[in-house]
Amino acid sequence: MKKFTLLFAALLLTAPVVSLADSVAGCASEGDNWWSEERAIMGTEVRVELWHIQQAEACAAIEDVMLELERIEQAMSPFLPTSLLTQLNENAARRPVTVGEELYNLIAHSVEFSAMTDGAFDVTYASAGRFYDYRKKVSPDADALAQVIDAIDYKHLEFNSRKYSIRYLNENVYVDLGGIAKGYAVDRGIEVLISKGFTQAVVAAGGDSRILGDRQGEPWIVGIRDPRKEDTMVAVLPLVDISVSTSGDYERYFERDGVRYHHIIDPDTGDSARDVRSVTILGDQAVMTDALSTSVFVLGTMRGLELINRMKDVDAIVVDGNGVMHVSNSLLEMVATK
Ligand code: ADP
Ligand code: MG
Repeated sequence: MKKFTLLFAALLLTAPVVSLADSVAGCASEGDNWWSEERAIMGTEVRVELWHIQQAEACAAIEDVMLELERIEQAMSPFLPTSLLTQLNENAARRPVTVGEELYNLIAHSVEFSAMTDGAFDVTYASAGRFYDYRKKVSPDADALAQVIDAIDYKHLEFNSRKYSIRYLNENVYVDLGGIAKGYAVDRGIEVLISKGFTQAVVAAGGDSRILGDRQGEPWIVGIRDPRKEDTMVAVLPLVDISVSTSGDYERYFERDGVRYHHIIDPDTGDSARDVRSVTILGDQAVMTDALSTSVFVLGTMRGLELINRMKDVDAIVVDGNGVMHVSNSLLEMVATK
């Protein structure tokens, strides 16, 4: 494992680190025809960076990506009273609600991840998850949890693919796409750029990033932070043309009586999943890496890595409950053969 970190750390010198930290207002030059902008969307910091020789075209394209992500937020936020998702949550226990092709497809796709992960990924987690408030240190008591725990089950979602409508078969079901929507939005942002002919870019929304192409012949360098030490990296990866998602127990959490309550919920218990501290997934599409980072977090080190090792072209880096790092088989082989 030491070799792994050292090998990649050496490459850090040859290319800049992807950084979400230095915020600049508006579209700004990064030098050498690279342009970037950050904006708060979907409850997180969105960053777009791309290469183009003309500032006007570069900044217009970044604006188009931001608008696409803002459009997705308007449709899929559970906090906006006007969003399609809110309309679904308010009405679907009583009647089928037509949500349109895009939201329908993303919820249907979520259910495919539920089936693939033995229910670890489940957008109905929010039937209980919505009773937590991490900022106010609120968690549901045992009675409140007992009343809604049965509602966590993706099988309560009834789909009508002709009408793009969804109905909830249990009255306490509540859907939240926080484990997949940012990855979906990142993919859509990259598609906007591809359709305009861009070949080198990064779109990142919080812990979900997708890299298009390389950095003028060099890889992007992505650091994976230590879940307990903000300024320390557990791994540094040179990457091109790939999506990366990290789920951690350090982003939204509070502690009570020595127990950490955080935003990734085990659908079996309605309580935070506590086997691991962070999971990073590498793969082609951000919608998949986002859903799988949340899934592997819930599954834990053993079952999570088993799932990833069965899949093609997907890798994982897990920091377990003792702070020990584990990686998927093909990542291990890659490091060993370098
Ligand atoms: P973030 O980038 O918001 O930290 P993660 O990919 O780490 O997102 O996923 C955490 C989010 O996923 C939570 O904030 C919640 O919205 C949602 N979530 C929590 N538990 C589950 C689960 N078991 N299945 C699906 N989504 C979940
Ligand atoms: Mg995720």
